[in-house]
Amino acid sequence: MSKFLDERYSSLAAYVPGEQPQDKKYIKLNTNESPYPPSPETLAAVNVGETENLRLYPDPDGRILTKKIADLYGVESENVFLANGSDDILNFAFMAYCANGRKSYFADITYGFYSVFANLHGSDYTEIPLEKDFSIDADKFCGVDGGVFIANPNAPTGLALSLEEVEKIIKSNPENVVVIDEAYVDFGGESAVNLTKKYDNLLVVQTFSKSRSMAGARLGFAVGSKEIIGDLHKLRYSTNPYNINRLTLAAGSACIDSQNYYDENCKKIMATREFTKTELQKFGFSVLPSKANFIFAQSPLIDGGELYLKLKEKGVLIRHFTSERIKNFNRITIGTPEEMQIFIEKVKEIMEEN
Ligand code: PMP
Repeated sequence: MSKFLDERYSSLAAYVPGEQPQDKKYIKLNTNESPYPPSPETLAAVNVGETENLRLYPDPDGRILTKKIADLYGVESENVFLANGSDDILNFAFMAYCANGRKSYFADITYGFYSVFANLHGSDYTEIPLEKDFSIDADKFCGVDGGVFIANPNAPTGLALSLEEVEKIIKSNPENVVVIDEAYVDFGGESAVNLTKKYDNLLVVQTFSKSRSMAGARLGFAVGSKEIIGDLHKLRYSTNPYNINRLTLAAGSACIDSQNYYDENCKKIMATREFTKTELQKFGFSVLPSKANFIFAQSPLIDGGELYLKLKEKGVLIRHFTSERIKNFNRITIGTPEEMQIFIEKVKEIMEEN
């Protein structure tokens, strides 16, 4: 840290992304990426012509892609906001609605970036404990006095709230913005996008990083009232109006045109998830019922940290979190059936060695 850094940031604990090691080739089940490549149409869109156009700035409003997303979800373009990954949107949401001492509420076990953004923007935040079974009690998020951030399905648990429960939370907080982070919704959850037509305090955030195989392109979007989307544009234009590059805009548009391809991938991933869960249960693991492209599992026979390290030695990366309540768990991204077969074999070897 330099002596020049603003005091506000000196104690800031930055977000720690999942490791992206370059030392050897791993079966990578640690950052919830899709195991499948982008669709052929998406690949074709990132072509020489578009690359030549890199000399030109991109459309700061990404109008073509915005319209496609609006049409797909049955809303108007003015209700859609694009950004450089959904992290970019979460950052703007904290900045707009929960900064400088304003309150925010999120679960104690959820996406780790919420508390980082809350600290970054000086939010007075409260972490609401999950229930014993790691579910969210919707009532505890009702009628609070600040912004609400809920990942649905939640990460790293994979558990989902029903649309009724989500609506109850939105309805009971008319004076505060409720952000529903649907990064994993395409793997079996229920989206709240339609509720944006009914509630002006709702912002639904989604990403192209998981179900649409574009984590490396950095593209997220949000749906909400014209006014909320306007707020986000104001902040975006005050920081970086060109936050989405041309190649990503082109890829994103082609992606929406090949929705069927991605729907099929989601189905495959969901089937592989259930296979992996059943196999792990055979070794005595308990696995939370996931609606995401990962599972959250623990075994009474092996410590979570130890399993993570032993799998890494065997060339398989999974995610281990050290916080007290979940330190015996591991989060395992669902790969291809072949990758998950190898994962299961390696787990079997480790359990036998134990
Ligand atoms: N929300 C949740 C719940 C996530 O797990 C992630 C992925 N780390 C994100 C948002 C951010 O995804 P991205 O910025 O790649 O869209």
